[in-house]
Amino acid sequence: MPKTLLALNWKMNKTPTEARSWAEELKEKYAPVEGVELAVMAPALDLSTLSANLPAGVAFGGQDVSEHDSGAYTGEISAAMLKDAGATYVVVGHSERRDYHGETDAQVAAKAQQAQKNGLVPIVCVGEGLDVREKGEHVPFTLKQLAGSLKGVGADVVVAYEPVWAIGTGKTATADDAEEIAAAIREALEKQYGEKAAEIRVLYGGSVKPDNIAEICGKPNVNGALVGGASLKVPDVLGMNDAL
Ligand code: PEP
Repeated sequence: MPKTLLALNWKMNKTPTEARSWAEELKEKYAPVEGVELAVMAPALDLSTLSANLPAGVAFGGQDVSEHDSGAYTGEISAAMLKDAGATYVVVGHSERRDYHGETDAQVAAKAQQAQKNGLVPIVCVGEGLDVREKGEHVPFTLKQLAGSLKGVGADVVVAYEPVWAIGTGKTATADDAEEIAAAIREALEKQYGEKAAEIRVLYGGSVKPDNIAEICGKPNVNGALVGGASLKVPDVLGMNDAL
């Protein structure tokens, strides 16, 4: 069984000074929980601060990565840069990247491949919008997005199921909703990766907090959570870590 992954997504929050205070507070109060891995996905500018100040054993990563190696791509961050800064993970295909920047499944797959080529573990996000959920088409929609986003991607990957209607809205999918899709994702991963699929973590994301994380992550096919809003305050992070 792989470790449960509590992956935090700060989104576009925290200056390096704020990141340092957060990491120092975490270092003072954090106690690792057996079988649980904690990782912080931060703005690229915060990574060197996290590298210097996080408690031992807490990983960190980026929130996006270029699909290119290097060169004339102004404003982008390469996988080699993230790796050299000490990152373990990188989020790819977050719904905010798909919606606001028009990222396609093919681009998400190219980014995930680029991450793996440089020794990073991509956290590939998938999930349906409210219209799809209301039509009851969430399972086929998500599996199609997954297939496109994992094309040519190796088994050293994490999948995050994040229904778009639950991100930052306070609306959480029920634990049974999360399990329904996680089980379907697991079946698709088994088809693609065979035995290696058993090591792939499938996370749930969408308004996860200290008081709902245990029930959601207690489901057999859910191996952790990707958390936005509740990742910003250390007491909430400790509450989630301790609840797992
Ligand atoms: C996210 O940013 O991936 C996320 C799930 O956000 P929130 O926890 O705020 O819904």
